[in-house]
Amino acid sequence: MSNNALFYLTSETMPVVSHADGIHIWDTDGKHYIDACSGAITCNIGHNHPAVKNAMVEQLDKIAFSYRTQFESQVALDLAEQLVELTAGELDKVYFVGSGSEAVESAIKLAIQYFVCQGQPERHRFVSLRPSYHGSTLGALGLTGYEPLEAPFRSVTQGSIKVPSPDLYRYQESSVEEHITSLLEQTEQAIQAAGAETIAAIVLEPVGGASTGGRMVTQAYMEGLRTLCDRYGCLFIMDEVLSGMGRTGQWFAYQHFGVAPDILALAKGLGSGYYPIAAMLARGSIVEQVSQGGGFMHGHTYAGNPLACATGQAVIEVMKSEHLLDNCTQRGNELREKLEQLALKHPSIGNIRGIGLLQGVELVQDRNAKKPFPASFNAYAKLTELAKARGLLIYPRRSLDGLAGDHFLVTPPLTVSQTDIDDIIDLLDGSLS
Ligand code: PMP
Repeated sequence: MSNNALFYLTSETMPVVSHADGIHIWDTDGKHYIDACSGAITCNIGHNHPAVKNAMVEQLDKIAFSYRTQFESQVALDLAEQLVELTAGELDKVYFVGSGSEAVESAIKLAIQYFVCQGQPERHRFVSLRPSYHGSTLGALGLTGYEPLEAPFRSVTQGSIKVPSPDLYRYQESSVEEHITSLLEQTEQAIQAAGAETIAAIVLEPVGGASTGGRMVTQAYMEGLRTLCDRYGCLFIMDEVLSGMGRTGQWFAYQHFGVAPDILALAKGLGSGYYPIAAMLARGSIVEQVSQGGGFMHGHTYAGNPLACATGQAVIEVMKSEHLLDNCTQRGNELREKLEQLALKHPSIGNIRGIGLLQGVELVQDRNAKKPFPASFNAYAKLTELAKARGLLIYPRRSLDGLAGDHFLVTPPLTVSQTDIDDIIDLLDGSLS
């Protein structure tokens, strides 16, 4: 530990950041990095975008903060409308908060209150996946499918009912279809065992992020979970904190499947790193019920402040004017192809998965046996360090379920060019070698 007053520094040798431009970052020693993970899969439109800076300054010149119980803010109303439009009206109410965890926390509370208002206070339990990540606040941590993170806080997290998540790489059944059927059966059994009348919602990350390194679900799985929610009268909550805001080539990952949630949590890419802004989107009928029952008992001081909302609006405008959803799809396909070529050369690449510019790579010791590296080898940390030394930033993890091994995410800003993709692959190639 250094003498530094900062609580969260993980290494004394961490470089000190200086400035950035687009997908490029420089430290105070003048070393250059390619940000191939958008920070924490956050800076979707790249660093230092002049349009966002201008919009923020313009808003600062008017007013940065006004409190939602004292004033309406046009910019908050406009941003909410824009978000509703992005869902094509499927989710028509928006609640602003400041972080992904707060968005998930809001979803939990809205779901519980919705049932309380209907005289069903016993519906306060949630079904979520193992592994999964939903945030660090206590409610969101309770949904998180990673035992060691939650265990010390179990007395206050109200841990959710965990069911296994789709693993299209290591499934045990004889086909993907059978795997998905089996998972849905297990989920239904878990709901019945807990008592269906106690379940408020099923919670899902439609594309895994940090928790699973980009693991995908299937159409049948999405439809199956929707059917279970409808059959047992509970809500479907999707956590698109990481997968939302164009990261997968659609505004929201659920749009690839045409299966909409009842409540959606959104964060990272909405502020794209410029200002902490996040949102919970919900079906109007849910919000109406809660409003009639006395109103949503929730709120954060900074929620929906004008500066945050101006930032979100500017980010959306940049995404539209620069056609970043299309760029995401095209560059994502190129990235995927090149990662697959890299796999021909590097046997440590066991599996590549994901969609758009949310690509995950799983590292293995033995590709044929799909055998992970031993935890003590710290493959993910080693690769990240080697890449960083070469000037490439990737987002690493060891699998949260203890079954799979090490993985990393390649999630550059959606502004990335074809040449940038080549540079990322070259640096990755060198690091893997
Ligand atoms: N949900 C998901 C899917 C996430 O990836 C994250 C952050 N990695 C969170 C929730 C929590 O967001 P935050 O760190 O902004 O609180």
